[in-house]
Amino acid sequence: SAFSDLGLAEWAIQTCKELGMRKPTPVQTHCIPKILAGCDVLGIAQTGSGKTAAFALPILNRLAEDPYGVFALVITPTRELAFQLAEQFRALGSCLHLRCSVVVGGMDMITQAKALVSRPHVVVATPGRVKVLLEENPDIPKVFQGTKFLVLDEADRVLDVGFEEELRVIFQCLPKTRQTLLFSATMTSNLQTLLELSANKAYFYEA
Ligand code: AMP
Repeated sequence: SAFSDLGLAEWAIQTCKELGMRKPTPVQTHCIPKILAGCDVLGIAQTGSGKTAAFALPILNRLAEDPYGVFALVITPTRELAFQLAEQFRALGSCLHLRCSVVVGGMDMITQAKALVSRPHVVVATPGRVKVLLEENPDIPKVFQGTKFLVLDEADRVLDVGFEEELRVIFQCLPKTRQTLLFSATMTSNLQTLLELSANKAYFYEA
């Protein structure tokens, strides 16, 4: 299949071409139409499979139609992954003037709180830092009230590392009507449970 068969806008198809992405990878072919259709998705896919673009492209496509407030919160287990994800979002969203903030430990919290209050479109975060900001700064929970997408990247690791308490706090601050996208290298029973809790029609992809 081709990027033009997946339901993406012309600018997104063009951006893929400019970034040297000639045709969609399997995880992209299967997940992009489902995410555009409003499904929650659990995708089992390795790093290198193109899974970041599989969720970033449909999120940006929807954002371009409705650019209001924090649109997507992307949770990932490590700082390094957070910066890599943000870089891909910025590259894929360059023609949208995308505002994307990284919220991770080891960096100034006041600067991060200010960045969040300015309502970026996409927030890429590690669970610990976003929990602290949500709990300690009364302006931050409001920022996430209209979030349309929650992504758990490397969801098996996020759940493994014992981030239950962090995730509970984060989930509480997000609207129930959001779309939830889980991407993981392995299938775990925790993920199955999360998928069963999903409010939307859920789609399961495994390579
Ligand atoms: P990921 O699996 O998301 O870590 O992506 C691995 C790498 O593949 C990234 O550097 C992407 O820029 C690249 N990539 C993603 N989708 C495609 C595609 N359809 N064609 C070529 N490269 C891609």
